[in-house]
Amino acid sequence: AATLSAGPSTVPAISTSVPGGAGGIQDAKDLTRMERIGAHSHIRGLGLDDALEPRTTSQGMVGQLQARKAAGVILEMIKQGKIAGRAILMAGAPGTGKTAIAMGMAQSLGADVPFTMLAASEIFSLEMSKTEALTQAFRRSIGVRIKEETELIEGEIVEIQIDRDVTGVGAKTGKLTLKTTDMETVYDLGQKMIESLNKEKVSTGDVITIDKATGRISKLGRSFSRSRDFDASGPETRFVQCPEGELQKRKEVVHTVTLHEIDVINSRTQGFLALFSGDTGEIKPEVREQINTKVAEWREEGKSEIVPGVLFIDEVHMLDIECFSFLNRALEDDMSPIVIMASNRGITKIRGTNYTSPHGIPIDLLDRALIISTSPYTEQEISRILSIRCEEEDVEMTEEAKEALTTIGIETSLRYAIQLITTANLAARKRKATEVDVQDIQRVYSLFLDEGRSVQYLKEYQEQYMFNDADQHKMEID
Ligand code: ATP
Repeated sequence: AATLSAGPSTVPAISTSVPGGAGGIQDAKDLTRMERIGAHSHIRGLGLDDALEPRTTSQGMVGQLQARKAAGVILEMIKQGKIAGRAILMAGAPGTGKTAIAMGMAQSLGADVPFTMLAASEIFSLEMSKTEALTQAFRRSIGVRIKEETELIEGEIVEIQIDRDVTGVGAKTGKLTLKTTDMETVYDLGQKMIESLNKEKVSTGDVITIDKATGRISKLGRSFSRSRDFDASGPETRFVQCPEGELQKRKEVVHTVTLHEIDVINSRTQGFLALFSGDTGEIKPEVREQINTKVAEWREEGKSEIVPGVLFIDEVHMLDIECFSFLNRALEDDMSPIVIMASNRGITKIRGTNYTSPHGIPIDLLDRALIISTSPYTEQEISRILSIRCEEEDVEMTEEAKEALTTIGIETSLRYAIQLITTANLAARKRKATEVDVQDIQRVYSLFLDEGRSVQYLKEYQEQYMFNDADQHKMEID
């Protein structure tokens, strides 16, 4: 049998977010980092307080209180690792914040909880079968937290014990002070210090200097004078060395990788470099079976634990009946992630059949799902969202212009109004103004049609277009 590796032991540590991803399936955390002024860049969380109550406006989120609270409850369950294999449906009209709420959830999950985002239509455009694409998406959304033990050599420095509450490595004569409660920084720096200490052969009682940024340590001997030096034997610092005797296995390092990453690393045809090119192709079922067995073994031995993450499927009505049946089964697996689906459809045909169903989702899947609905925004909420977007896009706008834009938002759509912000700003700059005014809004409103006016235009000039069916069939958008 092939030797299985979990990544970290054979290749440099791989984070859970893979750049690019296979054919468009992206990790939401990556997505947000790249899309600085993308549609949802203003969303920084769900905007809930400690008791999971939604604040009216917080972390870029406005209104939609019920849905945000419900999402918060689910998030809490995910964080506590209490639920796996659940389906959640976010249902609501276009532009009511379904995707925004999912992004908010992604931002609030811990760094090692995988969040995968997928538009259902991507399943059909990948160079692989639909079920393979879904399987990969599922496995990208399941983390495996692996604990590794490393060997220690006698006398090696294992641990530096530092006073916790004291930002960065302070410059105090005689002692090392770390002023931070952020244990990650301490841990990170601590690791670098340990490496450096071992290289410099520092031992208890030596006087050393430490570089704040890199954790590099230099030995100064036993006398110290300048303020940046400290006495390593001071009360707040203690080196713990590997006791004399035989080699020991004691140091524990924890990595989280996704099942998909383990699959790719162990797939003979691909190799781990495929993780970076995104060209992972189909992965053989045997490989996955071996990996599942191995992971189950690790779990039993206490070497690893499963971290169920979140798979967000947008436009879920674009999936067909085969995919839905796959979902039903996959959700039953004990290693299933939480699947959040979003749809803006009403009662419509289930793709691949002649049957209709709410949201185009088969009843048996709907029955398993917790449904969160989003409702239309009030004038005040639209106005707030537009203000937040102006700030995000770095656009100054007069109050009158904001009011005009809000009215447009109510009468057309929030999305259309959001799109006018940058365009209006360009119009303002063209006339050398620093602030967007009503005239700029008017200008772009007349330049770019919203959906309603576009339909109207089509009706008026239909004879001039090719393939015009409006006479024979009633238009869907009528
Ligand atoms: P569709 O069904 O068409 O996919 P949706 O419900 O997913 O729509 P979003 O894409 O989330 O809608 O929202 C449209 C725009 O409005 C986005 O830029 C989004 O970030 C913003 N937005 C929506 N709701 C909120 C909110 N409650 N707070 C802040 N911004 C919001």
